Amino acid sequence: MKLEQMFAGRTKRMKASEIRELLKLLDQPGIISFAGGIPDPALFPAEAFSKALSACMTDHAASALQYSVSEGYRPLRGWLVGEMAKIGVPCDVDNILITSGSQQALDYLGRLFLSPGDTALVNWPTYMGALGAFNPYEPRYDQLSINGNRAPEDYVQAAQEATGGRVKFAYLSSDFSNPTGETVDLRGRQNLLDLAEAVDCAVIEDAAYQALRYDGSDIPPILALEIARKGDIEACRTIYCGSFSKTLSPGLRVGWIVAAKPVIAQLVLMKQASDLHSPTLNQMAINHVARSCFEDHVATVRGAYGARRDAMLAALATYMPPGVDWTRPEGGMFVWLTLPVAVDGADLLAQALETQKVAFVPGHAFFADGSGRNTIRLSFSCADEATIDEGVRRLAAALRAALGA
Ligand code: PMP
Repeated sequence: MKLEQMFAGRTKRMKASEIRELLKLLDQPGIISFAGGIPDPALFPAEAFSKALSACMTDHAASALQYSVSEGYRPLRGWLVGEMAKIGVPCDVDNILITSGSQQALDYLGRLFLSPGDTALVNWPTYMGALGAFNPYEPRYDQLSINGNRAPEDYVQAAQEATGGRVKFAYLSSDFSNPTGETVDLRGRQNLLDLAEAVDCAVIEDAAYQALRYDGSDIPPILALEIARKGDIEACRTIYCGSFSKTLSPGLRVGWIVAAKPVIAQLVLMKQASDLHSPTLNQMAINHVARSCFEDHVATVRGAYGARRDAMLAALATYMPPGVDWTRPEGGMFVWLTLPVAVDGADLLAQALETQKVAFVPGHAFFADGSGRNTIRLSFSCADEATIDEGVRRLAAALRAALGA
């Protein structure tokens, strides 16, 4: 008997993440890794969490250890209402669902919208975890373009002709995206809303990195722009996904969705069916820490990552051979490199690991169509400035060798 033969058809599109497989190789001594896009554990507010957890257990043990409501811990949703108002999103607690990380939000939104053959519009490249979350719902992907060079009818017609499905949503990581580090400017956000209106689809705004800006000015979330157009979140097609993973702690798995109430109500049913609710104690601890030191802590994190971003951009300018191009992110954790077309990012990784002991993520895994072979993603979040300089020097040496220069 082979149980594998009984797996549902949807499992065919569930593939091991290249990053997660790669991370297993990085324990070897001496490797400088720009691979995982994870927060630096040295920056976790460990003491604040220690106090928060002990306060939750001392004062509220009965509720902290008990089942709780699927919508999420109400005081935390209350705090988020205040935070969302600050960024131009007036809403109330019933517009918010707490999820187990924003990754769960992406899974639920895939489940909410996608029937097999429906189309999801995504950037080429996009967050590979979003593709991983949507894939089991068997969508077709089409390339999202927000600079107006493709007519809305074209998306609709292409979806119809390819699979008979319809365009259900456009997904994008709006600030300091994973993987490119780029931010969608105000005009791009307005164009996207126009496109979504014309196509009549939802917008999934992944704001996982939004708080991590190091310079430049904040740009209102797409949801804020849509509320400004329509006057009320209840009239909006944008669904905002936030996360505490990059600011406070990824291990506690707390994220949130903000959307019109009928969307939240359906997602709550999904949450009930899937895991009943996110862990009560984790939500309470996040609420405690957020209320005591969120702004100060985020300022510290921004300062540290900003210096690392600067170190990486400076090292790239110093060491990279001609023919390499890279993004200049205003925040987040990533710089995206476009290499000469003859260089394959996956081959370069194998070589760089072996000869230079430096790691990164080949870019093609972020493309829904598997293209982008000559791209790579570097993360600057987990190395100090001197290590970043040395790692980029090594990477440039591996690249020169690959180019025969
Ligand atoms: N969106 C983006 C763009 C991400 O980079 C990540 C984490 N790498 C997530 C969502 C998921 O994060 P979490 O589930 O920890 O909130």
